[in-house]
Amino acid sequence: MLRQVELVERVLSYDPHADEDLLNRAYVFTVKAHGSQKRASGDPYFSHPVEVAGILTELKLDMQTIITGLLHDTVEDTVATVEEVEEVFGPEIAVLVDGVTKLSQLELQSDRTKQAENFSKLLLAMSNDIRVLLVKLADRLHNMRTLHFISKEEKRKRIATETMEIYAPLAERIGIQHFRDELEDLAFVELNDEARRSILRRLEYLREEGEDLVANIVADLKSDLKDAGINANISGREKRPYSIWRKMEQKNVTFEQLSDIIAFRIIVENVEECYHALGVMHAKYSMVPGRFKDYISTPKRNNYQSIHTTIFGPERQRIEVQIRTREMHETNEYGVAAHWQYKQQIGAPVQEGQQYRWLRELLEILEEASDPDEFLEHTKLNMYQDQVFCFTPKGDLISLPAGSSPVDFAYGVHTRVGDTCVGAKVNGRLTPLRSILKNGDQVEILRSKNQTPSPTWESFVVSGKARSAIRRFIRQQQRDQYVELGRSIAEKAFRNDNKPFTEKALTPATKFWDLDTLDDLYCSLGDGTHTSKQLLEIIFPGEKESRDNENIVPITRNRSEKKSGKQAAVPIRGLIPGMAMHFAGCCHPLPGDRIVGIVTTGKGVTIHTIDCDTLEQFAEVPERWLDVSWDQENDGAQMQVGRITIVMANESGALSSVTSSIAANKGNITNLVISNRTPEFFEMRVDIEVRDVKHLTNIIAALRADPVISSVERKGG
Ligand code: MN
Repeated sequence: MLRQVELVERVLSYDPHADEDLLNRAYVFTVKAHGSQKRASGDPYFSHPVEVAGILTELKLDMQTIITGLLHDTVEDTVATVEEVEEVFGPEIAVLVDGVTKLSQLELQSDRTKQAENFSKLLLAMSNDIRVLLVKLADRLHNMRTLHFISKEEKRKRIATETMEIYAPLAERIGIQHFRDELEDLAFVELNDEARRSILRRLEYLREEGEDLVANIVADLKSDLKDAGINANISGREKRPYSIWRKMEQKNVTFEQLSDIIAFRIIVENVEECYHALGVMHAKYSMVPGRFKDYISTPKRNNYQSIHTTIFGPERQRIEVQIRTREMHETNEYGVAAHWQYKQQIGAPVQEGQQYRWLRELLEILEEASDPDEFLEHTKLNMYQDQVFCFTPKGDLISLPAGSSPVDFAYGVHTRVGDTCVGAKVNGRLTPLRSILKNGDQVEILRSKNQTPSPTWESFVVSGKARSAIRRFIRQQQRDQYVELGRSIAEKAFRNDNKPFTEKALTPATKFWDLDTLDDLYCSLGDGTHTSKQLLEIIFPGEKESRDNENIVPITRNRSEKKSGKQAAVPIRGLIPGMAMHFAGCCHPLPGDRIVGIVTTGKGVTIHTIDCDTLEQFAEVPERWLDVSWDQENDGAQMQVGRITIVMANESGALSSVTSSIAANKGNITNLVISNRTPEFFEMRVDIEVRDVKHLTNIIAALRADPVISSVERKGG
């Protein structure tokens, strides 16, 4: 285990300004906090955070990250709290430790949704500071190094699979090749040791067969380049067993192909030399077609830069050659952290505010590097706040703007799913369509072939996709209505004029108005662009007088409104026409409350607030839930009754103080019931007519300010 002095010295070696005292305090803090806890290996637990901190020093990370490494398990596994950490180490470190703790908790929870790719997206989204993720990766690396101490095979396998599927790709994603390689190989040992052993045996055999093959090739290449005036550093490295295995699996290559086993790395000074060296290679040896890749002009999304080519080399063997500059090499192995160090070493001394430059660069890369199908398509690390990540029952990730509803989710899956959505289960529980989704929610959309998008959805969806799909549908629906209306207008006009109606007869008008189809013509009549009089004028010119005072079908924008014109305006949108509606007595919904309708046979629709306890009873019958909302245009048209419960001092004048306070705020008391009375207090239920929820909230606020009142709650009784 790394000793305290060694750790501090390591940090000071690359960051002379690090706070030595604070590092020492963190070391002592973790030793004390973990006390006598033991690892599966039998080592004291604190050896783990110390090793994790050690791994982080290899990346030359800042002191805050090293201290976070030391403290990363204290909040999760010991009595220490984030507050304590903040007190001793300051807010920055406390936030980092809290971030790592949250990731660990997430890890434990989300077994069901732990589908590799998706889970890594979630991890990325949750790590609003990349240093949190780096600590988590170092943590995982050390846990993998000590995996063999865990006695339960099942647990080892689970951890190894997770590492292979989640953490190794994440390490690759943020450019730390070095972490990825080790994570993969450690997991490979656990998951398929037999395959790994056979590859190692094979490599051993080839090494013996080939004798000095690698050394000879290196020497030959070196002299080739030297002749061309390039001073290069060349090495031949066996690829790792896991990467050979993956290639064998993916490309079905035979093991004997040396090019897939040994990579020769040519490291030169600058980019010109890279291409110069490539030219030398291709001039001297013939290249294997289809294997050339220029990651210098087009870096990989994790900023990896190198030229790869496969040639028939000096010994007539197929060999892969990778050409890169030293700086690229460092970046490829250690991610952007190395890039930063390199610049710092050759550049000026560290300036104030420059310490995190590499961090910002890494964030930029994560943000920018996104093919349409890449994982940061809709995601940015620092956009964690305004994104929400939810899963389909199969574990596919749907990322949505924050505040999204199950309807947004449905449209996020597919427009067809959105259009036919009738209900949703969130984490297995039936949930109203207008509720707000949280990170990690698993959402199942209930669909019905007969469903069509409800115009009320538009009032709560937040994603552009959902909004435009709903609008498109409404436009189409409106158009259908106009077409239908226009057709009856035309028919009636013909009838009144005693002319036989045929579609063909309308052709001159379609042409005259320069419309494409007959439906367009009907639509233009239905929406009032043209009148039936104009229509007849075009088709039967010169018969004007006779039809001047005719009764022509009136054009209304909304026929259903016309039909039910005598009914009192209903302040609720989304109701089924003709169905009775009333407000629930349990929750007394007010305009401004989020509401839902429940259909009861014979009684019509009852409107409840979305958080009403009564809704629990209807959880199993989604077909009775109706998505409704307040009609904003109807605002203030009707007063609604809200109910509050007041507990107040039992003293003279108290009651009149309450009633005058309500009256002063323009509330109209419709009922008042004293529900409980003691010598000190009495409790009463008051029904008040108000405009909307805001109005009631104002009244409640005014009442709370009254010293005789001890509490006011909005609830029934
Ligand atoms: Mn740990």
